[in-house]
Amino acid sequence: MPDIKTVNGPPGNTCPIYLNDMKKINKNWHLAHVMPKNASLEQRIAWHLEHQENCGCRPIPKLLLAAMEKRKAAVGTAAG
Ligand SMILES: [Zn+2]
Repeated sequence: MPDIKTVNGPPGNTCPIYLNDMKKINKNWHLAHVMPKNASLEQRIAWHLEHQENCGCRPIPKLLLAAMEKRKAAVGTAAG
């Protein structure tokens, strides 16, 4: 029977630094791209778009994906 280890993360703490023992983290990228504590939605979207290109430690939150879809709809069809 395989052992299932529970991952303990600080609840409510989204600071990327504590993720440094997770797989696929691009620590250098995180050090160079620290999310501002009071980041606006635009900033967070931009951060996550860059993040997913450079690091695979966590996916884009559904809330942001939904906001991005709304933005796309507002801008219209992207030409390329
Ligand atoms: Zn990451």
